[in-house]
Amino acid sequence: MSALSELYEEIALCRQCEIAKYRTKVVPGEGAGDADILFIGEAPGWHEDQQGRPFVGPAGLYLDELLASIDLKREQVYIANVIKCRPTGNRDPLPSEIHNCRKWLDRQIELIRPRMIVTLGRYSMAMFFSGRSISKIHGTAQRRGNVIYYAMYHPAAALHQQSLRQTIEADMLKIPSLLAQAESITEAKQRPQQLSMFEV
Ligand code: URA
Repeated sequence: MSALSELYEEIALCRQCEIAKYRTKVVPGEGAGDADILFIGEAPGWHEDQQGRPFVGPAGLYLDELLASIDLKREQVYIANVIKCRPTGNRDPLPSEIHNCRKWLDRQIELIRPRMIVTLGRYSMAMFFSGRSISKIHGTAQRRGNVIYYAMYHPAAALHQQSLRQTIEADMLKIPSLLAQAESITEAKQRPQQLSMFEV
């Protein structure tokens, strides 16, 4: 059994938050275990809770379209959420739920070791860009070590607000060149004299 599958089993046993009582299925995340890009959404919704898979409702169909715009399929990336159980009544995740679930996301990051972490929406953004506002930092990247962190609006926000559609679509199109830069960074690490060329 792969380390990720073992992790899914551990996540399925987690009952730390009250919402675990009400879930149909836990939604740990899915995708390539060695994905270059990790997308992090907010929390499972109704569809995700039914299927135990992330982003399979209307926002997920739109995410699939956004991925297709950069020639990627969801199987080629990894998709996770800040919390793994559906909040009751589709409310926002509570700080305690985000705190309790953080360890699972950290383990996923350790196992997948993505080159790029893309936050979708303000909850995942807050985990990696503390104190920043999504309207200011969407479409901008920050390099820390070997990883590029990149903030985007949540696909559901673009579905509900037509004006954000162009923005999220344009932000998605920047990902391939950022990823190429991340690859250069890794190569440059092996040739330290070139490191300064690759500031994001
Ligand atoms: N919205 C999210 O943030 N995550 C999902 O998995 C589905 C919708």
